Amino acid sequence: MSGSATSGVQEMSVEVAFAGMRRVAGVVFKAGCPDCRVSFELGASELRLAIGATSRTTFYSFVCPECGVTVRKPAGERIVELLTGGGVRTLRLHSAG
Ligand SMILES: [Zn+2]
Repeated sequence: MSGSATSGVQEMSVEVAFAGMRRVAGVVFKAGCPDCRVSFELGASELRLAIGATSRTTFYSFVCPECGVTVRKPAGERIVELLTGGGVRTLRLHSAG
């Protein structure tokens, strides 16, 4: 047995790319059905956002996977940002001008 000393020199370069973290794919939104009261998760493609002239006419809609009813809920500014940022199809109800 020869006493060989292995020097464990390890260069660890930690590259944490928090700044460049983007989650474009696989965005899931939690929603609930007021009809059958089942909560579920919906993908961006299953949601639709309609932006009206005012916040009162701005809403998002989805079809309940449980009972099949179309649920319509008012969307505030934060929800609009969330949905549009998550890739939800946006329909603008008011025409410019
Ligand atoms: Zn339902």
